[in-house]
Amino acid sequence: MSLIDTVIPAGEPWIGTIRRGQILRIVDLEGNQAVDTLFYNALDTAEHYSAQNTIQAQRGIYLTTGTVLMTNRGRPLLEIGEDTCGRHDTLGGACSAESNTVRYALEKRHMHNCRDSFLLALTRHDDETGPRLTKRDLPSNINFFMNVPVTPAGGLRFADGISAAGRYVELRALMDVLVLISNCPQLNNPCNAFNPTPVRVITRESA
Ligand SMILES: [Zn+2]
Repeated sequence: MSLIDTVIPAGEPWIGTIRRGQILRIVDLEGNQAVDTLFYNALDTAEHYSAQNTIQAQRGIYLTTGTVLMTNRGRPLLEIGEDTCGRHDTLGGACSAESNTVRYALEKRHMHNCRDSFLLALTRHDDETGPRLTKRDLPSNINFFMNVPVTPAGGLRFADGISAAGRYVELRALMDVLVLISNCPQLNNPCNAFNPTPVRVITRESA
């Protein structure tokens, strides 16, 4: 499997596969960009990242160095290594036409959103060797670099970002992994500082 080094333009999706042992680095090129991400077992996509199992395994809701991302079958999927941002969200989910309508205004329905971006990437992917992934295959996602603080009373807030230009997070694949990213196009809340920007995705072999 060849190594990857690509820039995902602002608001665009991306899909790719990394082999077990490879390290994936996601770089927030210009800062304060939310990167909605899902991971699947590349050999059996019915197995995928599980927010619940990951939170339960590490007894915490934020992701950073040392976090092992768990699958819906309770198996380790990837481990977070170097992380120069320091916190990533497990709870905020992906924006959608529906959430834009409910949270902001009816006129926001047509706007680009992560759920549609995920589906667009899956349609383009069209892996003839495996089952086609559809809406039903989109579980709760990770929001890399996104700041969603939880209040003592249990409330959620989409807050201004804590990332900055050039910050990155690295993940080591513990199995062959299909990576699905929506570089969030959201313009209605501060998850992108109201200004979506490109991110870079790089893989390398672990030393
Ligand atoms: Zn989004």
